Amino acid sequence: MMNAVRFIREKLGGYGIGAIVFFLLSLYSSLLGTLPGMVLWIFFGALALACIYAAFHSVWRYGLWLIGIYVFSGAGGYLLTHHDSVRLVGGMICEIIGVFILLSLIYRVIDMRKKTKHKHPLGLWFLSLLIFFVFANLSLSDWSYWLMDKTPLYIYTFSEIVIICSGVYVLWFLQEKISARNVCPVCDCELRVDKRSCPSCDGTESFFWCKKGEHHIIKCPSCNKLTLHGKKCIHCGRKLKKRVECRSCGSEHPLAEWIRL
Ligand SMILES: [Zn+2]
Ligand SMILES: [Zn+2]
Ligand SMILES: [Zn+2]
Repeated sequence: MMNAVRFIREKLGGYGIGAIVFFLLSLYSSLLGTLPGMVLWIFFGALALACIYAAFHSVWRYGLWLIGIYVFSGAGGYLLTHHDSVRLVGGMICEIIGVFILLSLIYRVIDMRKKTKHKHPLGLWFLSLLIFFVFANLSLSDWSYWLMDKTPLYIYTFSEIVIICSGVYVLWFLQEKISARNVCPVCDCELRVDKRSCPSCDGTESFFWCKKGEHHIIKCPSCNKLTLHGKKCIHCGRKLKKRVECRSCGSEHPLAEWIRL
């Protein structure tokens, strides 16, 4: 269990976890069915979106695509539960727009992948996006049945959880596997990943090595951009520590003491 928590923390970072927690709180508030519940629903939702922005700062625009898919396929799912022709036609149009946004997102990502020359397989990513789309439909159609007949919101609740997880995965994958091109900020050449393990525990950390300039490159803890491992960040000017803190055990060691893997 602790390993799973550590794994998620390492992969997602604090803001990514914050986004999931706030989305879940927002979902819980929406189930209360009261006015304060609705206020909390919007409040936690806004906090979650702010966390999404902070966690996936380089790909947050794709979050807008996801919101578009959610709104249109959700509206489609909602309208298609009604049986008058006007709402059925409206539902079909919403579904078509939702599919269109989905396909244009896929098209853009394939294009970006070509440019950044990343070779990571997209299968799981496609699947997550499809799951996101299907469950947005399911969620809002269940919500519609609840509005009409006060049926329990089990499918809605489950679908929203699936939507939150798949949405976060879609953005995480784009940021970590597709858009992040590891290029030296000084020499503009491809960097080699230099994975090392903490001298105090078995936690690992990824550094970068620039072959051309023969320097270590790290992620600035303040602006998250790649910078020289030196006195201060070349982008935001933040003072950098000589020692690198382990995210697993919290101890600090000079880079040279970290064990090469
Ligand atoms: Zn360099
Ligand atoms: Zn910085
Ligand atoms: Zn450690």
